[in-house]
Parts: sequence; C-alpha cells; structure tokens
Amino acid sequence: MSTATIEELRKKYEVVIGLEVHAQLKTKSKIFACDSTEFGNEQNTQVSPVTLGMPGVLPVLNKECVNMGILTGLALNCTIPQYCKFDRKQYFYPDLPKGYQISQYDQPICVNGHIDIGGKRIGITRAHLEEDAGKLVHMGSSGIAGSSYSLVDLNRAGTPLLEIVSEPDMRSSDEARAYMEELRTTLRYIGVCDGNLEEGSMRCDANISVRPIGQKEFGTRAEIKNVNSFRALQRAIEYEIDRQIDIVESGEEVVQETRLWDDNQGITKSMRGKEDAHDYRYFPDPDLMPLEISRQWVEEIAAKMPELPQQRRQRYISYGLTPYDANVLVEQMDIALFYDKAVNLGADPKVANNFLMKEIAAFLKEEKVTIEETKLTVESFAELINMVTSGAISNNIGKQIIITLLKEGGSAKAIVEKQGLSVISDEGALKEICQKVVDANPSQVELYKNGRDKLFGFFVGQVMKETKGRANPQLLNKLLKEVLDK
Ligand code: ADP
Ligand code: MG
Repeated sequence: MSTATIEELRKKYEVVIGLEVHAQLKTKSKIFACDSTEFGNEQNTQVSPVTLGMPGVLPVLNKECVNMGILTGLALNCTIPQYCKFDRKQYFYPDLPKGYQISQYDQPICVNGHIDIGGKRIGITRAHLEEDAGKLVHMGSSGIAGSSYSLVDLNRAGTPLLEIVSEPDMRSSDEARAYMEELRTTLRYIGVCDGNLEEGSMRCDANISVRPIGQKEFGTRAEIKNVNSFRALQRAIEYEIDRQIDIVESGEEVVQETRLWDDNQGITKSMRGKEDAHDYRYFPDPDLMPLEISRQWVEEIAAKMPELPQQRRQRYISYGLTPYDANVLVEQMDIALFYDKAVNLGADPKVANNFLMKEIAAFLKEEKVTIEETKLTVESFAELINMVTSGAISNNIGKQIIITLLKEGGSAKAIVEKQGLSVISDEGALKEICQKVVDANPSQVELYKNGRDKLFGFFVGQVMKETKGRANPQLLNKLLKEVLDK
C-alpha cells in the first residue's frame, strides 16, 4: 500500500482511545502488609506471610494508601464516594501466590473526574486501589538437561497501585500523550508517584479502536500493553490505527484482545484474548470491611493539596514567562522546585528562568546529571541572578560564572571578586579604552564616518574584547559615541 492511500484511508476513520494507567503509590509499606516497598533489594526479602499468601493470614489496609488515593482523586477532579470496598479478582499466576488480586470492582475510591489538555477535557471514569503482583524472571532453557524455567521475586507483590481509567475521549496519539503527560506531572507534584515509565512505577495500557467517520457506535478495541515511554505510547497507537483500518477495510473484524507492543520491531502482537469481567469471578473480599470515607477525612486531605501543574503554569505566566516557557518549567519538576526557591530568595523570575533554560539546561544535558547532582546551590544561584539584574556583572559574565558554580560550587560574589569580573563603570577608565580601540582602527573609523553606521557594533565588540566583557553596556555606548563623533 502506498503512503498516499494510507493517508486517504486515515481520513475516513476516527480513532478512539482510552487509557488505563497503573500508578505505584510511594508509600513506605505495602497496601495490605507491613513489608517495605523499597525497590532494588535482594529478591524475596520483603515477603511477610501476608505477601506469600499463607493460609490464615489477614490483610490490613494501609491508611496512607487511602490518603494518597483521596489526594489523587481530588487532584483529578473526582468525586470521592462515601463508601468504597475491596474485591477479589481471581486469577492464578505464579507471581500472585494467593490466587487472587485484591482490587476494587464496582465501588472504587474515586469516580467521575477529568483532566484538561490544551483546551480539551478528558473524562476520568474511575480510579481504584489494588495490589501489584510480583515479578517473574524467565531464565530460558538453562535448567537441568536444557529445561526452561522461570524464577519468581515477590518483593513487589502487594505494592500499592492506583489504577486510573479514562473515558474513551481521546482522538489521536497526540492527545493520548498529552493526557498521559499531564497525569504524570500531576501525580509527581502531589507526591503520590514518581511517574517513571521506564522503571515501571507508572504503567499504561492503551485501548484503541477505529470507526468510520459518522458512525455512532465505537469499534471493537484492542488493549495494548507494555508501553514503557511516551514515544512508545505514540508509536504503538499509530501502528494500531493502521493495523485496525487495514482489517476493517478488508471486510474483516477487529478482535477484542490484549496485544503487546514490541518496541524493537515497532509492532503490536497478539498476547491473549481479552477476559471479560465475569471471567475474573469478582466478589467482595470477606477479609476487608467496606471502607467509609468521612467528609471530614476528605476535607483534611483537600486542605493539604499542593499547587497543581495548571496553577503553577498560571503563576509562572503571572511572573512574565511565556506560556511555552511556563510549561517547559512545570514539566521539569526538580528544576521548577529549584526555581521557586531561588525566586523566594529574591531572584528575578524572568532572568532566573533564562539561565535555567539555556546555560543550566545545556550543562545538565551535556553532563547527564540532574540539578541536585551539580554543585550549584539555590543561594548562590539567587545571588548570581541578583548580581546580573543589579548590573554588578554583565549577562555574559553571569553565563560564564554559572558554569563554574555548576562544576565547582562556591559563591558567585567570591568568584567575581577573585577573578576581577565586576562591571567596569568607571567613566575615565572606560573612555580611555574606547579611545585606544578607535586609534587602533583608523580605516574602520574612516568608513564609519562616511556613513557605515553598522560599524558601531564592531567598535563595541572590540571594547568588550579588551575588557573581557566587563564594560557597562549603556556607558560604553555613550562613551564610544562621544569618542567617534569627536
Ligand atoms: P477492562 O478492565 O476490561 O480493560 P475497563 O472498562 O476498565 O475495561 O477499561 C476500558 C478502557 O478502555 C477505558 O479506558 C475505556 O475508556 C476504554 N475503551 C472502552 N471502549 C473503548 C473503545 N471502543 N475504543 C477505545 N477505548 C475504549
Ligand atoms: Mg483493561
């Protein structure tokens, strides 16, 4: 098929996307057991009898998970119903020793929310608490006599998850990405999830269907798993759109199934038929009481709500940043928090943002480090910005010093003093240098006097070179004119 026809075909169909996102909650212990949730420890060392699913043990709900569930719900504009409950979702898998997962079926902790992305509202159907499974490590055929086998690590089993289910409201891979990004940013700012897609602390299943434009009913969806980055999410959706259009065009039917995204091959592969809810034999977990969430509890959590991404963008715009810059800053949480502290110490918001977005961003990228990993402190950053805005040093000198501060630390003032970098505002001294430059370039002076006004910049550059960028720019302009027009 030629690309032209693919594009033509795409115009005949509308894409429908709904995302199910699993966010690992950043609690210290598991959702129904006291084991630590810490990542990266020796296998099977965080496995109490509850995690192992021993007979006779009882789950005890971790209140912090509920607090985080409520906080997230409120941040996502959800209603927190007065009652929610926990259900057993039956399936056997070696990384789930109990033979069922504790989840929430028909009475989740959050319902009816939304996220706004670039002027469009994406509905959130529900968000529910559940426990994560362990990890299987497939060893291939390296067992006895070439047999294949797998190992299981149950450290992750029982880690709290909040599954956030969107309405099928997205109509393009761009919208899906924007939704996912805004969700991730929100979860990170409210401190419930670190939002690391690559490491799996935030995982996304993308449900995708296509329908001929004008058709009311949705098409049959495929659910795509294993999308571990924003790029993968977009690529998987794009691939799936073409695959499904192809099927419909050839008169066949899309099957409802779970498919796996293969990032290397850039394709989705059938994994298994999609279970219906009744296959899981959900029933209320008799070991856990229905949970009543009082309105007072909700209010207490609401009172602790930190500033949300949208409010942050507005605040930055009110500082004079462009909407684009405000967004870039908000998307980088560690930089934004650093920035806020510097602004609180009196740094000019626009100048500080310029340094962060240009020199500092370039340094971090080049050195592959985070701002916390550099030697730059908020105090010395604020001090440097203040020296630039007060005119004590030039912008260019500021740009040099910031690199030293990032690499070696120390105070901006001390560096300026030690290296003699402060601005030259002494009229006599500066005029002398202007005169020297003019005397040294008689032919340029001649041309300038004959109307080549642009050469003024040449003289400015020469003086800046002489002074290593330290000449006070306004004063330099004035003095140079005086000397040239003499
Ligand atoms: P399940 O747990 O069986 O996958 P859910 O109802 O919890 O089912 O989630 C289904 C997800 O699929 C939701 O995000 C929903 O918006 C989305 N969805 C439902 N129908 C369609 C469809 N026809 N096309 C695309 N997405 C859909
Ligand atoms: Mg699903």
